[in-house]
Amino acid sequence: MNDEIVQLYKEFDKNDLSFFFEKLIKFISKYDKVFRNYVFENSLNVVKKFKEYEFYMGTTDDNLEGLASFYAKEMVGASEKEICGNVIHMVWDIATFMTEELCPSCQDSYLKIVSSTDQKTIYKSCDNCLITIKNDEFIERPEEMIPATKKQVNIIMEK
Ligand SMILES: [Zn+2]
Repeated sequence: MNDEIVQLYKEFDKNDLSFFFEKLIKFISKYDKVFRNYVFENSLNVVKKFKEYEFYMGTTDDNLEGLASFYAKEMVGASEKEICGNVIHMVWDIATFMTEELCPSCQDSYLKIVSSTDQKTIYKSCDNCLITIKNDEFIERPEEMIPATKKQVNIIMEK
């Protein structure tokens, strides 16, 4: 599992995020049984079905290339738990849509558009201070959240 994820990160190409994203999803499916031990089941079931064309890729200000090369080294001696957490994190960083709206709470990061695992509720959320907004009201952060699809992003951005 380590060698495989290290190789995957080494092959990261910022000009072909879709391809990299698909490989991450395939990796999750392949090691489904391991991921199940560390990732919420509802999240995992949806994430496994993610298709690259359903998401806006690479809209955040994360330095994905830098992260990938850092992780390629980190994952050499990582535990199964660390690998699972790391891959889910990378999927989040690639596929979560970032708005140009500054977080009203910390004012240090831009709000992202995220979704409930049943994909019925759309939220705005801050990765930095973790506030979550639903229909313009602050709510308690749900335990599980996944990146919003293009369709969901378009709905909330039109409001
Ligand atoms: Zn914030």
